Amino acid sequence: MRGPKMLVRWLALLAAVSLLAVSLPARRGAQQPAPPASLPPPHKAPSAEFLRAADEVLEEMSKLLGLAVKAPLKKSVRSREEVRAYVVARMKEDREPAKRYADQKALEKFGLIPKGFPLDSFLTELLTEQVAGLYDPKAHEFFIADWIPAGGQRIVMAHELTHALQDQHFHLDPWMDAAKPNDDAVTARQAVVEGAAVAAMLDYSLRGSGMSFRGMRELDPDLLLGGTSDDSSLAKAPPFLRDSLLFPYTAGTVFTQRILRAGTGWGDFNRVFENPPSSTQQVLHPELYLQGVQPKATQLPKWKGILPLPWKSLDENTLGEFGLLGLLKLHLPHERAQELAALWAGDRYAILEHEKTRALMLVYRLQLAGEAQALRFFGNYSSLLEMKYPSRNELLRRANFFSFTSEEGGVFLRCHIDQCLSMEGGTRAQFDALTAAIGWPRNPRVLPGPARSRQKTTIAVLPGNASTVTSFAAGQ
Ligand SMILES: [Zn+2]
Repeated sequence: MRGPKMLVRWLALLAAVSLLAVSLPARRGAQQPAPPASLPPPHKAPSAEFLRAADEVLEEMSKLLGLAVKAPLKKSVRSREEVRAYVVARMKEDREPAKRYADQKALEKFGLIPKGFPLDSFLTELLTEQVAGLYDPKAHEFFIADWIPAGGQRIVMAHELTHALQDQHFHLDPWMDAAKPNDDAVTARQAVVEGAAVAAMLDYSLRGSGMSFRGMRELDPDLLLGGTSDDSSLAKAPPFLRDSLLFPYTAGTVFTQRILRAGTGWGDFNRVFENPPSSTQQVLHPELYLQGVQPKATQLPKWKGILPLPWKSLDENTLGEFGLLGLLKLHLPHERAQELAALWAGDRYAILEHEKTRALMLVYRLQLAGEAQALRFFGNYSSLLEMKYPSRNELLRRANFFSFTSEEGGVFLRCHIDQCLSMEGGTRAQFDALTAAIGWPRNPRVLPGPARSRQKTTIAVLPGNASTVTSFAAGQ
């Protein structure tokens, strides 16, 4: 093993590779399929030495993974301009403009990127700066960036050729597409693909030493994430963006190691492609994957009756445990954020836009592991909302209901049994209509005078069952 520092260096080099598929989940819609991005012939032919090295590494990876080479591969060395052209084309192909816009707005409203953050240009810049190699499953071509020194090429090849071999056997593009449109499930599959490629790359670097990645002590993903403090765009990225880009490599690698250990090695690991993790929670907690613990299905109602035009739903999707963790980490200490995020059992969010004013509304329905966990979440999430909106008026606080008005409209949080529901940017009437539509009891009435308080209510595990709590709140 070359140690965590070495790993971090390679992770940083490889990190950008997943950008296109992970933070920008592909959404090839029915309306306008874009022409596939493909590279023109390289500006110069690869050297005989490069081709020989690629053939040797391919043969070694084939043996290591137990996956036969089924077809020849195109191999090339690409310049920065060629990488940039490919990146731009692939970004356009992978996400329709409407999905790109919706993602930008959802990330802004969740507070995960600053308002007006130039997401597309930032990602293009980052990719072009960081990418070491790429495997293009459409063209069955892998290439190495021409700024990677010759001594580092073989290890980049080991990573990319793992993608190539797994693609020949498990058809990575349609396999990724099968998780859509669930962004959380797409991220989970990306973690399988990148985690396996990092793990296989580590095994490649350990060849001949008598050691294997499977037999090494368990990796600490936080240690890996801590190693990106340099001057790159990746280091300067908003924390959630940086974590999202690294997640498939860090959490995916730890996940891969756990799966390799649960079986006999790479031969057993290949079964993950038949039974992929369904959520980032299963990646973050491989034991839940091994036990088959699935997210609870969570729905939002039809918006027509609740929010008539001019409100338009830009997107509905799943944030997942990883997304929730990013959200909680913005305002809460890391350990508490991790503990709370692990209470995740399923979610659905919607990002809506007022077509005239361009105002945004965010609705987030979260399933927690149980009732006590929902109460705990309520206490913490209401504090988080207060931190997120420093200017607050008309606070109303009850045991399981919290609301105030902000400069961006009304903010509401309600928990009921094992679920919590928030709305940011709406009105009380809209929130009442939403809770009624999902069949929850009435929200507490707004009373003038002392019932409206700026005092912080201590939220603890309340005695009694949920219906007691609900009737207490509803009967105000
Ligand atoms: Zn990769």
